[in-house]
Amino acid sequence: MQREIVEILKGVETSDGAGVSLIRYIGGPQRDMLDPFLLLDFFSSSDPDDYIAGFPEHPHRGFETVTYMLAGRMRHRDHMGNEGVIGPGDVQWMTAGRGVLHSEMPEQQDGLLQGFQLWVNLPARDKMIAPAWHEFNARQIPHEAIPGGDIAVIAGRTDAGTTGPVAGIATAPLYLDVRLNGRFEQHVPEGHNAFIHVIEGRVNDVPAGHLGVFGPGDRVALEGDDARFLLVAAQRLDEPVSRAGPFVMNTREELLQAFDDYRAGRFAGGA
Ligand code: FE
Repeated sequence: MQREIVEILKGVETSDGAGVSLIRYIGGPQRDMLDPFLLLDFFSSSDPDDYIAGFPEHPHRGFETVTYMLAGRMRHRDHMGNEGVIGPGDVQWMTAGRGVLHSEMPEQQDGLLQGFQLWVNLPARDKMIAPAWHEFNARQIPHEAIPGGDIAVIAGRTDAGTTGPVAGIATAPLYLDVRLNGRFEQHVPEGHNAFIHVIEGRVNDVPAGHLGVFGPGDRVALEGDDARFLLVAAQRLDEPVSRAGPFVMNTREELLQAFDDYRAGRFAGGA
């Protein structure tokens, strides 16, 4: 059954980190979550005042953060000693698990900084796993030619079999960056939730700068008009969510424990 777009969201302008301007589509007042997606932010500005303050050191526990850059560069550092700079077309997939302390700072003084941050929930059984961090640069991300376009396959597998480098993720995500002038179909498993974010042009009824949320079904059919968009899907968890700021757990007790552990310095490799 073909999935229909059941909701179109414009996003809400907000600010996070030390004062980074962004548009929040998921995880804000319009839509709290789209299981297992907890947050989707889009940042896009050529004004350094909108991004220069960055995201100084902060913790995460209980989910995964995915940063995908379209323009500009960001430097990541974490308590495990990982450090890297991601630029256009690069992706960072970080599994916070039981705890990560990291910073995400712009690696530029001016010019356009543009990209997405997505938070993907972890199932209850994995919330306290060891943290992990993976970066893939644009050259490691395979492309597939489609009629009227091109797909960069970051995670998951296209119907033609192109497979992204991000592997072993609990919620079996699909994360595609698609350029399309024409029609494109893709299988999306029944148990997944799915959305498109239209970066340029128009896809089905979704204009640029908007999020389109799909209803139930097992495939999507997209018609793009000189469009570029993300198609993202992942398996629903259907588990209770207890969240506050950078911590996303299943119960209130686990959430309070996360704050306790953070205050006691147990995130940075402590007991
Ligand atoms: Fe972060």
